[in-house]
Formats: sequence, C-alpha cells, structure tokens
Amino acid sequence: MATKRTKGIHAGIRRSQFNELSEAIFLTQGFAYPDAESAEARFENAGPDEYIYARYGNPTVAMFEDRIAAIEGAEAGFATASGMAAVSGALTSMLKAGDHVVSARALFGSCLYVLEDVLARFGVQVDFVDGTDLDAWAGAIRPDTKLVFFESMSNPTLEVIDIAAVSKLARAVGAQVVVDNVFSTPVFSQAIAQGADVVVYSATKHIDGQGRGLGGVILGTQDFIRKTVEPYMKHTGGAMSPFNAWMMLKGLETLDLRVRAQADSAAVLAQGLAGHAALTRLIYPGLADHPQHALCQGQLGTGGTMLALDLGSKDAAFAFLNKLQIATISNNLGDAKTLVTHPATTTHQRLPDDQKQTLGITPGLVRMSVGLEDPQDLLEDVIQALV
Ligand SMILES: *Cc1c(COP(=O)(O)O)cnc(C)c1O
Repeated sequence: MATKRTKGIHAGIRRSQFNELSEAIFLTQGFAYPDAESAEARFENAGPDEYIYARYGNPTVAMFEDRIAAIEGAEAGFATASGMAAVSGALTSMLKAGDHVVSARALFGSCLYVLEDVLARFGVQVDFVDGTDLDAWAGAIRPDTKLVFFESMSNPTLEVIDIAAVSKLARAVGAQVVVDNVFSTPVFSQAIAQGADVVVYSATKHIDGQGRGLGGVILGTQDFIRKTVEPYMKHTGGAMSPFNAWMMLKGLETLDLRVRAQADSAAVLAQGLAGHAALTRLIYPGLADHPQHALCQGQLGTGGTMLALDLGSKDAAFAFLNKLQIATISNNLGDAKTLVTHPATTTHQRLPDDQKQTLGITPGLVRMSVGLEDPQDLLEDVIQALV
C-alpha cells in the first residue's frame, strides 16, 4: 500500500489520448455528445468519468478529488470553491430544520457564523461546548443529536480535540461526526480511521500552500458523497474551478514534503522560544506543557505547523508584528511564507469581548503559521522582534 507521500503524486491521475505527463487542465464548463441518444443516456445515469457540466463535475476536478481522498483515506470527495463552501455544503446537505447539532465553540470565524447564525435561521439547534472537555460533549450530545462538528485543532488557540473519543460518544446515539481538519493537515490526519464520518478541508491553506487560490473539499464514504453531498453541491453552485483544481493537484504533489518541513520548523521555533521573557504564553501542541500534548502525539504524531504567542497586550503584539522582517502579516495560513496574524483585531474581530476571553483570544495573542524558510532565520527574526 503506497504511503500518503506517494499517493500525493500519483493518485487519481487521468490521461487524455495525448498521454500528457502533467495533469491536464480541462478548462471547459461543458461536454459534447456524439448523438442525442448519448445525451439522454448521460442525463439519465452518468457513470464514472462521464461528465455533463462543470458545476456537477470535471475531469481535472475529479483528479483532485480522487487524489485528496486517497491521501486522507476516504472513499470519495467533492471539491468546492473554497473551504467555507466545503463546511457550509457539508452541514447544509446533511441537516434539516428541527435537527440538533453539538459543536466545539473554538472555531474559525466563518465556521462560527455558519453554525451560530445560518443554521439557526433554518431551524437547526446548535449547542456549543468546550471541545477539549469530554464530559461537556457527553452532556450535550442527546439521543436525537444528528451531527457533531469540530475543528480537530482549533484556530487560533490550538486546542486539540480527541477525534476518537468524541466520535465514540456521537456514534452511540447515531450522530454523524464532521471534522474541519485544516490545522491537522491531510499529511498527519488519520481522522477517518479515528472515527470521523466526514472530513472537510480548506485547500486554500496547506494544500495550495503558496497563497494562490481558494478551494475546499468534503471527504467521506462513496455513498455519502454521491447521495448526500453531490446532489446538494451540484445544484447550489459551490463547485471548484478546473483551474484551481489543477493548482491544488500540483499542491498535493509537494504537500507531504512541505508540511513535514513546516512542522519541523514550528518545533524548532517553539523550542527556541520556550521560556522567553517577553511571552506570557507560548502555545504549541508539540511542547510537553501543552494541555493536549499526549493526545496530539497520539492523534497526529506531530505538533503541527502553527504556533500561538501571547505578548501580554495589544501594543506589545503590534510592536512585535511590525518589527518582524521575514514573517509577514497576513491572515492566510499553511503558506510557504511564514505568516503572522493578530486574531483579536482581524480574523476574530467581530466576536464580542467576553467570547474572545472565553476562547483565549487575548489582546496579546499572535498566531504564527510557520512557512518554508530556514528555521534558524525565522527564530532569529522572531527573537529580534520580541525585544
Ligand atoms: C481557512 C479556514 C476555513 C475556510 O476556508 P476558505 O478556503 O478560506 O473558505 C475553514 N476552516 C478553517 C479551520 C480554516 O482555517
């Protein structure tokens, strides 16, 4: 059985009659039929690799879907226009008015909007829990709970949620488990083997990894993707463009190498910064003092590519950000460039202060997505900016 690294290069490839080496970009919205009977048959029952319209599917997009599904260990995938199209598409295709959902409360801002505002408007009841507290999950999951949602490693405070334990609680009542796995990355994820039913990614992050475009994917069983996700997505319009699918396919070829290098550098930075006098908190799941360190090692086998530093105040955080020479201020993550973000004033700005407090999004908190630069250069840059 090939490893994720090998699958990232070969899985899902389709070659045209020209036998091109690199994946072709089928930049077409539609497909022609040799005769009217073929068109009728295609609409009646399109088989694998029988395409109708790019909102439903496209050969370049299918290559991306099959490749990322192979890496993740999922039976099938549906590629989407962005990570949020994947999150909202997964949730809205699975839920209906009257359903009950339990979600971790530490979520990416747009995920929180979908769970808190959008689903409520359509009559879905969502209860939020501290995702690291298994008793809270057990207390909130009801016999009629339909779905459980969480980010396996939360943004921006890097809480790690126990996929196996939460899935076991959900499974006991027949609830489906949907995991937003962006921070864990497909390279380290074993989410499906650990019990998740559905895994979603923003491909915009590590999968592209070079800050070029938006994309996302919903991964699950063949039956779930074909019967639940595809009918919803193909009619509501969140399809990935063939060009972006090609870009993401190329991203998958180097994903394993990039993400492992980024995680190694994140560990170097975390070790180099541990105990620094200018930091009131240093959060890295790969450090032994992280509350879910052991869980993270078991679940992912790494501390990941992200760090969070607390400088104690907004002024200190801004001074630090403005002094960095290599790390760049931006709200993307998973990029080749090391990126730093001040969540309280950017990605999580819209949250009320008490909610920021509960989530640990303090005025001094800086999130760092470690890139592909030389880790010693990065460490020197961070240290010179901390004084
Ligand atoms: C970025 C991100 C998303 C949304 O992805 P987009 O591609 O920006 O739409 C969802 N969840 C998490 C955890 C993210 O980091």
